[in-house]
Amino acid sequence: MGFRFRLASFLVAALVTVQVLTAILVYSVTRHELIDAGKRQLGIAASAFDRQLDEISDRVAASVQVLSLDFALRSAIAQRDQATLQSALRNHGQRVGAARMQLVGTDGRIEADTLGTPSPTAMFAYPDLLERAFEKPSAAVVAWHGRAYWVVAVPVFAPDLVGVIAAMIPVDDALLMRLQAESVLPKTIELIGPAAGRQWAVLASGSNHVSVTEHLLKGGGKLPRKAALLVVDGREYLAQTVWLQRSSASPPVAAVLAYSVDEALQPFRSVATAWAALLSVGLIAGVLGAFWIARRVSRPVEQLAASARRIESGDYSQSPTPASHDEIGALASAFGSMAGAIQEREARILFQAGHDQVTGLPNRIAAEAAIRQERAQHPQKPAALLMIGLRRVPEIIKTMGHDVGDRLMHDAGVRLQRIAGEGSLARATDTEFSVFLPGQEKAEAVASAFRIVDALSVPYQEADLSLDISPAIGIALAPEHGDAANVLLRRAGVALITALDSEEPVVVYDPKTDPHRPERLSLMSELREALDRDQLQLHYQPKLNLATGLIDGAEGLVRWHHERLGNVPPDSFIALAEETGNIRRLTRWAIATGISQAQRWNAEQHPMRISINVSARDLDDVDLPRRISELLSIHRVAPQHILLEVTESAVMDQPDTAIGILRQLADQGIDLAIDDFGVGQSSFAYLRQLPVCELKIDKVFIQRIADAPADRTIVRSIVELGHHLGYRVTAEGVDNMETLEYLVDIGCDYAQGFLIAKALPPDAFERVLANQDWVKVGRRVIA
Ligand code: C2E
Ligand code: CA
Ligand code: CA
Repeated sequence: MGFRFRLASFLVAALVTVQVLTAILVYSVTRHELIDAGKRQLGIAASAFDRQLDEISDRVAASVQVLSLDFALRSAIAQRDQATLQSALRNHGQRVGAARMQLVGTDGRIEADTLGTPSPTAMFAYPDLLERAFEKPSAAVVAWHGRAYWVVAVPVFAPDLVGVIAAMIPVDDALLMRLQAESVLPKTIELIGPAAGRQWAVLASGSNHVSVTEHLLKGGGKLPRKAALLVVDGREYLAQTVWLQRSSASPPVAAVLAYSVDEALQPFRSVATAWAALLSVGLIAGVLGAFWIARRVSRPVEQLAASARRIESGDYSQSPTPASHDEIGALASAFGSMAGAIQEREARILFQAGHDQVTGLPNRIAAEAAIRQERAQHPQKPAALLMIGLRRVPEIIKTMGHDVGDRLMHDAGVRLQRIAGEGSLARATDTEFSVFLPGQEKAEAVASAFRIVDALSVPYQEADLSLDISPAIGIALAPEHGDAANVLLRRAGVALITALDSEEPVVVYDPKTDPHRPERLSLMSELREALDRDQLQLHYQPKLNLATGLIDGAEGLVRWHHERLGNVPPDSFIALAEETGNIRRLTRWAIATGISQAQRWNAEQHPMRISINVSARDLDDVDLPRRISELLSIHRVAPQHILLEVTESAVMDQPDTAIGILRQLADQGIDLAIDDFGVGQSSFAYLRQLPVCELKIDKVFIQRIADAPADRTIVRSIVELGHHLGYRVTAEGVDNMETLEYLVDIGCDYAQGFLIAKALPPDAFERVLANQDWVKVGRRVIA
């Protein structure tokens, strides 16, 4: 639901609520007022009705009095002349609208009756009325034969009281209607009294036939003396009862006056209709207005959202224009300046992302993009990529700091820019530049490379220092060595490594010497598979204890028989496994295998200390100590039966973690040996910090013992110094008797080499143990 719709809905809802509430309020107030007014009106009507009946009786009384003065009537009374009496009464009765006229004697006996000659014993039905009539005319409403009558009794004097004339005037529908027409009586009037065995039945009713009384009495209800509200046939009425003047001889007669609230509301209906029409018009106008306002409010917001989306997609061309001076206008202008700032920052970031800050040259990513673009545009054209390395820079940075290094790189960049010409120059890594030369073939590229070497061979001057940076260049050619930018960069890099390691300053990439050939990658996945399928073997090369002449140790060396390639020498896959991160699994496997072999030999009474080779990459595996101790306890092998061999460079690479892990291992009682000792740069001083107990002198030194006296001295000094510092010393690569004898002479502790045995599978190793030749050799040597 959009903001606009919600705002409009809110406005419309507010409008409708206010209108409806007003309507309800007005209606209920009006209705209340009407009911109150109706009640008052009913009160007035009730007394008016009473008065009207009195007027009738006055009129009838007056008329009957005229009759009583009639001489003929008086003489007829005197003579008891029935015929005259009857005709006189009838005449008068007709005039006043009476249904029955009677002449009643002072003793209450009926003397004449328009309904026929009365029996001599017939008495007047309403003695109380008669009593009152002796003095003055009196009247009462009575019920007689299911009808209501207004009985008016008038005295007749001749000159003394001789009797009373009673006129019975029917109070019927016609009379009520006439009364209604004459005054402000309500439309509904019901005259009620006894009829057909019921106490209350409608004896007559006015112009409106609504059975109000029935409703009033339904369920034992009472007749209300004061105006009351009731519902008849779904319509509201106000009703009030008027008790009529009565004779004690007649059951009571009453009049129910009712007033229709709905009818009273009728005049307001048209007002209500007009109101509703007004409301609808207002509502329509309100809806339109609400939508218009909502649109006005939401439009600038939507425009802002649209510009935000444009900015998101990188289009800064249209900045939002503040259309108004209100908050939204302020937001729009803030938005505009934000877009500007983003654009600026993005441009800066883009530049930084593609450029090196020190030299201001494009970086590797930018170079790659440029090469890619160039190759895509001219795929046929030859091109050369030169990777320029500065051999001495890492060392310069180490000794003189990064500031000097940065200035030097900056200076080199400037020099390169001068001679790069058409080529695109970039700073490829910390210590390397790249120059991409479109259109150059091998000969030209090599010539360019030499020019660059010349330019960079001039030493870098800083203050009174002159620093030789010794450049080397690797070249990759397109399309010969590849078309893709990343391939060219990598291959030029490989050529550069070769150049850096050789005397030759410029080297063109040679696929044969590339250690990163794709075949090597597949070799790695095959190694993983071999590990998974347990296709590797650990062979054991014996270590001869020169003090006892016994073989009491062995070095575990991995052997891989590849289905297609045959035996793959460890040197060709260990380094690769280290680079690709597979070495940890290999090491874990070797340790597990070595430990279980140690357990077996222990059980067979050949206790053997087994050495396992550990790589640099294993020394940041913080899990290693725990794994080894687990394996040892699973196989119930004492830690003294295990020796880990680490090269010096492995420890030098990551001194902190490595030392931490080595200490943990030493704390668990596992001995450590430094492998290939002598070829690395480590000093004894550094080794002292490590928990080492054995040195393995590298075979390069051992193998020259026989013919190079200088190397003899080195070996002797290592052995002596090693002993001095408390290390055991093992000589590796012992392959002749002479060397062995020399080693015994100088007190070397262990000898390992082809002279004793090469690395063997366990069963072959056991056979070597069994023939005990070396005990003899050892004894002879010792002797
Ligand atoms: P290394 O640890 O220096 O192992 C000694 C190497 O010298 C072995 O080569 C061994 O066969 C060889 N050797 C032993 N005696 C003589 C001798 O008298 N003359 C000559 N010329 N060579 C001798 P190998 O088995 O080819 O192993 C090469 C390297 O591969 C090892 O050097 C070690 O660095 C690595 N390597 C072997 N197995 C493992 C392993 O399980 N884990 C790790 N991380 N590296 C291993
Ligand atoms: Ca070794
Ligand atoms: Ca070694």
